[in-house]
Amino acid sequence: MNVPLVLTDFLDRAVSLYGTKEAIYCDDRVFTYNQLKSRVDRLSHGLNRLHVQKGDRVAYLAPNTVEMLEGFYGVFQVGGVMVPLNIRLKPEDYLFILNHSETKVLFVDQELYPLILPIKEKLSTVEKIIVQYKNHDTAEIGYDQWLSEQSNEKFEKVELDENDVCSLLYTSGTTGNPKGVMLTHRNNYIHALSIQHHLRVRDEDVLLHVLPMFHVNGWGSPFYYTANGATQICLRKATPESIFHSLEKHKVSIMHMAPTVLNTLLQYYEQNVPQIEQEVRVVIAGSAPPPAFVTRVEKELGWEFIQVYGMTESSPLSTISTIRSHLKDLPLKEQYRMKAKAGHSVIGCTVKVVDDNGDEVEHNGKSIGEVVTRSNGVMKGYWKNEEATMETIRNGWLHTGDMATVDEYGNIDIVDRKKDVIISGGENISSIEVEGALYDHPAVLEAAVIAVPHEKWGETPHAFVVLRPGQQLSEKELIQFSREKLAHFKAITGVTFVEELPKTASGKIQKVHLRNDYWESEGKVGRFV
Ligand code: ATP
Ligand code: MG
Repeated sequence: MNVPLVLTDFLDRAVSLYGTKEAIYCDDRVFTYNQLKSRVDRLSHGLNRLHVQKGDRVAYLAPNTVEMLEGFYGVFQVGGVMVPLNIRLKPEDYLFILNHSETKVLFVDQELYPLILPIKEKLSTVEKIIVQYKNHDTAEIGYDQWLSEQSNEKFEKVELDENDVCSLLYTSGTTGNPKGVMLTHRNNYIHALSIQHHLRVRDEDVLLHVLPMFHVNGWGSPFYYTANGATQICLRKATPESIFHSLEKHKVSIMHMAPTVLNTLLQYYEQNVPQIEQEVRVVIAGSAPPPAFVTRVEKELGWEFIQVYGMTESSPLSTISTIRSHLKDLPLKEQYRMKAKAGHSVIGCTVKVVDDNGDEVEHNGKSIGEVVTRSNGVMKGYWKNEEATMETIRNGWLHTGDMATVDEYGNIDIVDRKKDVIISGGENISSIEVEGALYDHPAVLEAAVIAVPHEKWGETPHAFVVLRPGQQLSEKELIQFSREKLAHFKAITGVTFVEELPKTASGKIQKVHLRNDYWESEGKVGRFV
């Protein structure tokens, strides 16, 4: 018998095994799994009263909060589709996404409500907006009151097929306009089972939600930590101070974050060396390549470092950099190098790196090809964009647009996005490799390298750099440094020092903006448009 894999199973399991255990800490509140479930049931009753039916879209604009976590399960119980919104967008972006997704109900956190006010009248399908208040005791109306008015009876879940869509996720928009990715219950369920295995998630784990839950469902963390009865900690704002404070207060054992955030944590640690007792066992970084700090995370902070790779379109994770036991005899330096790679496939996912003819590249750590994946996590398609779906999924393989090499042990190393590769005098230069060299300079805090037009070579690498506080460095010095570190054709030919780099809400550097502005200011059109 085929029992449909539906994500609400995960909360039901936690309630039956861990009902009285702390499920989630948020602001100054704490809820057990029983309490969480009763809020989820009320939410589902409320959605029913708002006539949310199977397949209807319900959007959330909120930081990591208990309201956001219960949103997933409350929406799934009525058969709805969760549309988590990136909290760092502009009102016009929300207008586009809410209308494009044909959202029926919108939940919005009080602090973010001002972003919705200017577009409220132009929302063509939203029938109800419910504001979630930070200060629950004094708020006169809003979510808490609305929730308290709903039935406290157990909610009878709407029956679902595992291939029903559970969430509509808009991609990070790192390379252009965000696309709506349709993920199914089955996609997320199998992804969750696989990742919880690789991370050895257990009930005594305490997860600090650093990665936003709106970003491809927080890489599935609202699912597999809940399924295992772990305790989850939410922060409204994840700053180094608030993170280190939570590590001690809650005895956090595991965190997921973008490498840029981890970099800021290390930076803070270096300057303040907080004298705290912490029990972090592992930190998982992904979404972007890690700068060269793996060794420092493991040695200075004592946290196991794991790199993961994936994309919204694959639920998201396809590879992980855990060291397989038969490789543990390799020199430590080699193992650290391996951990910084995207790694090997996760269970349930086949990953290949192929050349233009679709043949697998040699596993020599040098030959470059495109990463293609086939897995249970691969999306149903892009919402209302059949053409982009057919372009991305071909013959059952998801074409990622990411270029990589594979080493002799089968570890995948992401070289660059196809669009970020710099083509100089016919040679392909990885912007990531050049950035890696710049990060070795002690004055460099952050670096982003893009292709800029060059009369002789077509394109050359140009760096945008944020310096560490109090540090000084000239363009000439950094160019010279890159020439010492890299083959000359890969060295940067110019530097723009900036206060900060444009980033997506999950902390990814948006090179597309840097590139567009640069090419536009030169009055040129690149191959990127
Ligand atoms: P958009 O598709 O809108 O341009 P995006 O691709 O950044 O945005 P996501 O789906 O959030 O949106 O990100 C997936 C991409 O992030 C991957 O295709 C890859 O380029 C990059 N990425 C993810 N993990 C890693 C990693 N470990 N190393 C290098 N790059 C990574
Ligand atoms: Mg993408």
